[in-house]
Amino acid sequence: MNNKNITPTVNPDEIFRIMQEDASKATIQTGWTQGVARSGSEKDSSSRSLKLHCTKCNIDTAGIYKRATDTERRCPRCDSLLMYCPACRHAVSATEKFSILSCDRCLTDYVTNMTVEYLASRDRSSREIILSGIRATGTLHLGIYLGAIRQFIEYELRDNLCMYFIADWHTLTTCHDPRKVSLNTLAVAMDYMAAGLNPERSIIYAQSSVPETAELALCLSMIQSKNKLEDLPTVKDVVRNSETMSMGHLQYPVLMAADILGPKATLVPVGSDQIPNVELARDLADKFNRQFGQTFTVPRIGSRTIKIPGFKGEKMSESRTESSISLQDRLEDISDKYTRFGITDTGRRTRNDPGNPNNCVSVYPVFKVLREDKPDALRVIENECLSGTRGCKECKLELAREIDDLIAPFRERRIKLANQQKYVEEILHYGGMKAREIVRCTLEEVRENMGIVSF
Ligand code: SF4
Repeated sequence: MNNKNITPTVNPDEIFRIMQEDASKATIQTGWTQGVARSGSEKDSSSRSLKLHCTKCNIDTAGIYKRATDTERRCPRCDSLLMYCPACRHAVSATEKFSILSCDRCLTDYVTNMTVEYLASRDRSSREIILSGIRATGTLHLGIYLGAIRQFIEYELRDNLCMYFIADWHTLTTCHDPRKVSLNTLAVAMDYMAAGLNPERSIIYAQSSVPETAELALCLSMIQSKNKLEDLPTVKDVVRNSETMSMGHLQYPVLMAADILGPKATLVPVGSDQIPNVELARDLADKFNRQFGQTFTVPRIGSRTIKIPGFKGEKMSESRTESSISLQDRLEDISDKYTRFGITDTGRRTRNDPGNPNNCVSVYPVFKVLREDKPDALRVIENECLSGTRGCKECKLELAREIDDLIAPFRERRIKLANQQKYVEEILHYGGMKAREIVRCTLEEVRENMGIVSF
């Protein structure tokens, strides 16, 4: 994997044109390179001939590329994928990873037409283009898993085009520690996958891998009134709770609109606090379409209804570790946190007092989510609580064990992924390439419709 700044798209006609150009040069001048596929060294490129070779098994591949549509063929001997690489200008074997093709000779990565067609066909055949992101502020917690990631996994299993990103730019509104931002971006990607997201099915990427989103946000900000931004609850929260409000805070909802509208998402699952921001994105899409012509899809809001309370009943948050269960917590950590901090029914004075599960602040609501498919098991807790035969401490410990059973496999996968940083970086790299390709098409439309000409 290299050439991170290059995201070439392999266009069959373009490749055919380059090949013809090369071929004519080869005939008129010195011919194509022979044998580069065998060693890949610069020394080879001095020997000239029309012969081409599969890098993997060295078979002569000349004659395989005869038509413009012949860009992605298989080697007749070893069945490797073959490609004509426009960067090193050789027909060689290629390796496909996450629908991205890498030239085996010069290692340039390509978003191929096949990739785009694949994404587009998924788009056509699937129900939705799902988009959701999470800031890189810390490790994921139980609330995010139960309220969001479980739903994300269902979306990807239903063969929707799912784009899940790590919002490293958004993180910069509150975190200016470069090391933390980069490490947390990787950590969230690891958490995503440890919790079950599949990079073969979903596009997992870092927000900053798609610079087109920033340009799109700039374009959208031209039609967004400042007053309306200042009226948003998320922006008001910042004014209330921070000493200073940066331009980044004010621009946050517009950047979020660009995140959503760039891939033309049709469904955006968000927590209730983010709904006003998605509504702003919907308004912006509508306004832009009316003013500049049909460009954006107006997304629907996939409101997340499952809320997992923290120990005092507040929302679980990754920035408040003392009030949340991290997906990396062990049984002893979970038991300890619930035993020490978990507020239950404050009306109970002693173990044998009858309680009311509906007044239980932090324990029963989690059981309700975990046992939604087991009503009988949930009823046992209710009855024992109401009759005073269940103590809050044992109830907390039972919940801790249940949570541990759920997250133990994530913890194991997370440990493995932490030792495979290169693999996770690759996933983000390839995910970024694919997301960029999708957003680039939207940005081209936006530029054209707004009259921005590339000279
Ligand atoms: S027994 Fe369980 S459900 Fe009842 S108040 Fe205590 S912790 Fe909550």
